[in-house]
Amino acid sequence: WYKNMIQTSEEIRTSDATAGAEGIVREVKRRRTFAIISHPDAGKTTLTEKLLLFGGAIQMAGTVKARKSGRHATSDWLEIEKQRGISVASSVMQFTFDDCVINLLDTPGHQDFSEDTYRVLTAVDAAVMVVDAAKGVEEQTIKLLEVCRLRNTPIITFINKMDREVREPLEVLDEIESVLKIKCAPVTWPIGMGKRFQGVYHLLNDQVLRFVPGEAKAGQDVETLQGGEIDQLAKQCPSEMQTMRDETELVMGAGASFDLDEFLRGQQSPVFFGSGVNNFGVREILRALVDWAPPPLPRATDVRLVLPTEPAFTGFVFKIQANMDPNHRDRIAFMRVCSGRYSSGMKVKHRRTGKDMKLANAVTFMANERTRMDEAYAGDIIGVHNHGQLQIGDVLTEGEALTFKGIPYFAPELFSRARLRDPMKAKQLQKGLRQLGEEGAVQVFEPLIDTSNPLIGAVGQLQFEVVEHRLKAEYGVDAVFERAGIQTARWVTCTDASHLAEFVKANQSRLAKDVDGNYAYLADSGVNLRLAQERWPKVQFFATREHG
Ligand code: GDP
Repeated sequence: WYKNMIQTSEEIRTSDATAGAEGIVREVKRRRTFAIISHPDAGKTTLTEKLLLFGGAIQMAGTVKARKSGRHATSDWLEIEKQRGISVASSVMQFTFDDCVINLLDTPGHQDFSEDTYRVLTAVDAAVMVVDAAKGVEEQTIKLLEVCRLRNTPIITFINKMDREVREPLEVLDEIESVLKIKCAPVTWPIGMGKRFQGVYHLLNDQVLRFVPGEAKAGQDVETLQGGEIDQLAKQCPSEMQTMRDETELVMGAGASFDLDEFLRGQQSPVFFGSGVNNFGVREILRALVDWAPPPLPRATDVRLVLPTEPAFTGFVFKIQANMDPNHRDRIAFMRVCSGRYSSGMKVKHRRTGKDMKLANAVTFMANERTRMDEAYAGDIIGVHNHGQLQIGDVLTEGEALTFKGIPYFAPELFSRARLRDPMKAKQLQKGLRQLGEEGAVQVFEPLIDTSNPLIGAVGQLQFEVVEHRLKAEYGVDAVFERAGIQTARWVTCTDASHLAEFVKANQSRLAKDVDGNYAYLADSGVNLRLAQERWPKVQFFATREHG
């Protein structure tokens, strides 16, 4: 089906639908949904801001910046965000460029990032990876790329900060290829760097894009040189031009030319060099998104492949956020539309409970501002108000019973137990943890022994802080989280039920059940986990599990 998916996606992109019944095809065709992945400080916020400038969402750009510096109280919806000046929430930004509707899903940039970040990546069709040219591939980029790889998400690479003294471009590319295991296809190549940065040579267009520090304003064309003009430049800075020629010859000689098909399969990444803060190279990223990134892809379900152009509405929840605005005590479920058309007031079926729901007043988000949305198509993200009915992975359809695959849970790397300051609040604590667990804020495990003392698992420390805060604010529970002596968990299954029962009996003290009743093995060390795996070769240990 994977091949089928790429093919369908290409058919949609190249179709010439214009109007009428084909309206849905036209809308799908012009949509792109992506996230930016990077290690903190590589330049994600800056790039987001510049992308939005091109998209004409100038006011938004200010908000992005403000959120970072913490000056704008409105975008800091949670107390924790205010205190730490970071964005816990992943928000969604929509803008248009060259008649394309582009959905940019923000991922938390802090290193204590959480499962939200991972799940956001399940809702996109492409990603832009920002690499600091001085630092190369960093830890969080590695983690995020692993997640992209689960779905073969196409990756566009932006090597940033060329206006500084950075590492040699060849070295950075080598590192990306060897560490991230993705082939690089340079589309632009830098001419010099730092104070001597002249611009980039565009390998596909045979042009030079001139860099003028600080001068490239939004929407303004950068100066492009071709033919004789490039020769002129070579006279002005012979050594930089010569180096560029030698290096591009070397990489092209190694067969690194761009291949759309390989890109769409997530095996090769087109690489652009630039300087986000100077708005240099940003337009090329947008062009790559519009020209090469796939329109909304078909999605696999438990019964069939859902095409984005199907008339009936389907969508899945990939993130839940509570109380973004203290004046609204409800929760917002972020839903990716997978097919059909959302219109305000439409009736849908909630797959998990079988209940009917009315979808009214879905919103899009621009930081903390809610904007009413009247219609949405595949690839768009809508925010649905609810009071806890919707959970991560939930599916809404116009009646068909299907479940989207691939919304992952990741084995937590941090475990805590909640200790109540007021023992009378045990019931509320239980309720709060259950709901927050369902929401996906943390993962809650019930140990087989000592069932009344749940274990709380997270991927990032920040998740505990958020939950501690929310328990207090929303459930009136004052609890502190104390580290449990567990290092990692693996979901376990076995095709042989009696063998699994044997395993469970022998490992009772190390086993717990997750919210869906799956067994998880809790290891206090990597060695312990390895030993268990060796001792029980017929039992399978999984570091991720899919929702449902
Ligand atoms: P984030 O943490 O990935 O969102 O990174 P930011 O966008 O906040 O950027 C981190 C720092 O790098 C900020 O001080 C930016 O001004 C700076 N920065 C971003 N892009 C560039 C660039 O192209 N050149 C230079 N010299 N600095 C940059």
